[in-house]
Amino acid sequence: MERTLSIIKPDGVAKNIIGEVIKRLENNSIKIIAIKMIHMNKNQAEGFYTVHNERPFFGSLIEFMISGPVVVMALEGENVIKKYRGLMGATNYKEAEPGTIRSDFATDIEKNVVHGSDAPETAEFEIGYFFNNFEII
Ligand code: GDP
Repeated sequence: MERTLSIIKPDGVAKNIIGEVIKRLENNSIKIIAIKMIHMNKNQAEGFYTVHNERPFFGSLIEFMISGPVVVMALEGENVIKKYRGLMGATNYKEAEPGTIRSDFATDIEKNVVHGSDAPETAEFEIGYFFNNFEII
């Protein structure tokens, strides 16, 4: 069993597709083991995306991530990191496979609806960033 962190980003929440994303998780036997809605401040978003702080789009990404509430979830399942990234689709929605979340709902390379951890080590950091042990079922 593996774990990953999912975020429904501010554009996804604003588009009223929280349920749609969750339905896709459930339809693919991915279990939600923690969930909450938060509205991050700048420090919190910068801490989360610290690996990207040298990237040219960092400032814009942070502004976007604090522009509204997000839904954060810890997910569990077999091979769930790869499986959930498969459901998300490529970072750039124009390159995402048809039927993926980003292909269906993203409008921009930045406003791409969802986040998913990319490796076990990042998943552990990211889940721990938002949830304590008592919040994970
Ligand atoms: P992910 O793992 O598919 O989310 O992609 P990355 O880890 O490479 O990037 C993190 C997030 O930064 C992406 O999900 C986008 O929201 C944003 N992002 C990535 N590349 C770009 C870019 O070239 N321009 C802008 N504005 N945002 C980007």
